[in-house]
Amino acid sequence: MTSTPRFITIKAPGNEELSRQLTSLLPPDAIQSNRAAIQKICYKCEKSTEDLKKCGKCKAVWYCSEQCQRADWKNHKPICNSADPEGFVRLQKLSQIFMANPILMLYIQKYCALTFGLTDSESDPNQPRRIFVDIGIEPVDITKCNQLFCTNDDVPTPIRGMVQVTTITKHPESELIPEDRMVIWRHSRKQVCDDGQDGEPVILVEYRLRENQSTITTAVTIPPPVLQMVRERKPYQCVSGIRGQFEKAMTEDNVLEMLNMMIRQDKRNQFRLQTDMVTSDIDIIQKIKQGGELSNSMKRFLLKRNREDIYKPILACSQSLSA
Ligand SMILES: [Zn+2]
Ligand SMILES: [Zn+2]
Repeated sequence: MTSTPRFITIKAPGNEELSRQLTSLLPPDAIQSNRAAIQKICYKCEKSTEDLKKCGKCKAVWYCSEQCQRADWKNHKPICNSADPEGFVRLQKLSQIFMANPILMLYIQKYCALTFGLTDSESDPNQPRRIFVDIGIEPVDITKCNQLFCTNDDVPTPIRGMVQVTTITKHPESELIPEDRMVIWRHSRKQVCDDGQDGEPVILVEYRLRENQSTITTAVTIPPPVLQMVRERKPYQCVSGIRGQFEKAMTEDNVLEMLNMMIRQDKRNQFRLQTDMVTSDIDIIQKIKQGGELSNSMKRFLLKRNREDIYKPILACSQSLSA
C-alpha cells in the first residue's frame, strides 16, 4: 500500500545578503540562523506565524491553531495514518539545512535560471514554474561508494553518508501545477510583489528523498544578481589530478555537479549535510548490480554516476551496469 505523497509549505529565506555571502566564506552560524528564519505556513489557512505546531503523529504538517488542525483532520487523517514519520522527518531536516545554505541555494537558483531560460527578455516572472530536486545519500568516502556499487564486499556499517542531488526534473510545461502547490506559489509571488520585486521569478522547488513518500515544497526567488551571473556564464575553474586545470561551462549538468562537489568537499561537515546511511540508502547503490527492475532512486543514482567526473576513473569497472 502506498500513501499519496504529501508536502508541507516552507519558504526559503531571502537573499538580501547574497552578494556578501558569495564573496566571504559561509559564516559559522549562517545555516542555523537561516534555518530559524525559514518561514513556515499553516497547512489549513496558510497563515505564517512564529509558533506553528507540527502534527504530533506524523510531524509532516504545521498548523497555526488547534482549530485549523481540527478543521483539516478529515483531509489529513488518511495521510497521517500511513505516513513514514522517520523518513519524512529526515527529509524535512536535510532539506531545511540545504535551503538554509545560501551557497547551495545559489546553485539551485542558477539551475532554475538556466533551465527555465529566465534571462531571456521574453521570460515572464508571473509564470508559475516548478522543479523536483531528488536527494540521495551517498558515502562520504568515494572508495566506499565504489565498493558498494562494484563489489560484493561487506562494507562495515555504519557508513557515513552525505546529501547529494541525483537529478533535477522540470515540471512538464504542458501539465498544470497542482492547485495545492499553486497556493504556495501565489503566496510567495504576492510577497515578492509586495516587496516591490515584481521582476523576480518565483520557482517552486520540491524536494524528494524516496518513492511514495511525502515531499517538501518550497518557494525560491531568483534575484537579479543571480540572473546577471547566468547572463555572463563565466565557466567554472576546475582542477583535477588527471586533467590538471580546466574549465567547465555553466550548463545545467555542470551546475548540479558543482553543487554536489561543494557538499563532497565539506570534509568537516560545516554544511551539516552528512548523515549515517540507513539500509534503504545503501540498498539503492548496492542492489543495482543484482539486475532486475531498477527503482527510480536507482535510476537517478545511475544517471548521476554517468554524469559526474568524480566517478570517471572507476567507471570502467561498472560499464555494463550503465543505464
Ligand atoms: Zn491556520
Ligand atoms: Zn499528521
